[in-house]
Amino acid sequence: MLVLGIESSCDETGAAVVRSDGTVLSDVVQSQVDLHARYGGVVPELASRDHARNIDPVVREALARANVGLDDLDGIAVTNRPGLVGALLVGVQFAKGIAWSRGLPLVGVDHLVGHLLAVFLRRPADEDAPRPEFPFVALLASGGHTSIYQVDGPTADACRELGGTRDDAAGEAFDKVAKLLGLGYPGGPVIDRLAAIGDASRFPQKAPMASVRSLEFSFSGIKSRMARHVADHGRPKDEAEIAALCASFQRAVTDVLAKKLVQAAEMNGVSRVVLGGGVAANRELRERVKTLANARGIDSFVPPLASCTDNAAMIAYAGAARLGRGDRDGWDLTATSQTSLLRLTRKGRGAR
Ligand code: ATP
Ligand code: MG
Ligand code: FE
Repeated sequence: MLVLGIESSCDETGAAVVRSDGTVLSDVVQSQVDLHARYGGVVPELASRDHARNIDPVVREALARANVGLDDLDGIAVTNRPGLVGALLVGVQFAKGIAWSRGLPLVGVDHLVGHLLAVFLRRPADEDAPRPEFPFVALLASGGHTSIYQVDGPTADACRELGGTRDDAAGEAFDKVAKLLGLGYPGGPVIDRLAAIGDASRFPQKAPMASVRSLEFSFSGIKSRMARHVADHGRPKDEAEIAALCASFQRAVTDVLAKKLVQAAEMNGVSRVVLGGGVAANRELRERVKTLANARGIDSFVPPLASCTDNAAMIAYAGAARLGRGDRDGWDLTATSQTSLLRLTRKGRGAR
């Protein structure tokens, strides 16, 4: 089965052609990072307009690179949640247009399910890498979400949240700390780069909620401590100091993420862990997860960078799983800001 995936939930316009076995025939991502950089975050109205401008050329490019026409497709998958509603609607309406005009089946995909399944994509560079079997425990750490899920199958109804952040998402913390240090937006890649040359022991940070035997996270405290440091000492000018601050921040955050992921797998008797979401591109996190999992006899599966950050290939793959079991959405498919995945409530009961 050949599926066209369309992604426009935030600040990346994406289109990809993917086979249901995960083979990526094309994956086009048009980032809006430069557009939003001067505001230090995503401006929703600008995002929607840019998606509207770019979606047609991005889809054409994805079809051209895959060397397929619309008539070769077996279905269309589009991110319809969670995200900025105005941005999502651009993709959803465009997908409906194509599906209607060619009589193709259409499915909406939860962006978070896309991130959780991105590990199954087969790109030319990692075609032979091992893929996990179900069930696995996955850490989804991105700009808007940070949670641990047990994933029993390739659809939203088979994903269960085991724990998540009480406040900021990990990626949001990276972005805010980078802003504080005057490093620009998005913060993750810059901090990653500087941390590699910084001395993490110069300003040691405690990993947030590391000692609690729960699977919850909190990243607002560490961000406030970084802000206080900058307020007390002024914005650091020398590169060694900036790098040291980045290194200590990154050490604390990646340490708690990796530990709780492995802990979650052990608590649930699952022997495989998986990474997903933009923060999974972080080199220290990737290393840490491999090392910790290895030490506990747990298999770890870490997707290549292009599969971690936002892309439409993961949406096409998740859509193929839905289409494969006969799911179809109608012309009334809507966009919503909320995920369809079960969320933990304070009492531990699931809620949508
Ligand atoms: P969501 O998926 O929750 O809707 P999003 O789509 O904006 O949010 P992604 O594109 O998956 O999120 O991830 C973007 C986030 O990943 C940003 O916060 C960015 O700073 C972070 N990020 C990207 N690369 C790295 C890295 N190397 N280290 C740490 N964080 C990173
Ligand atoms: Mg993004
Ligand atoms: Fe994302």
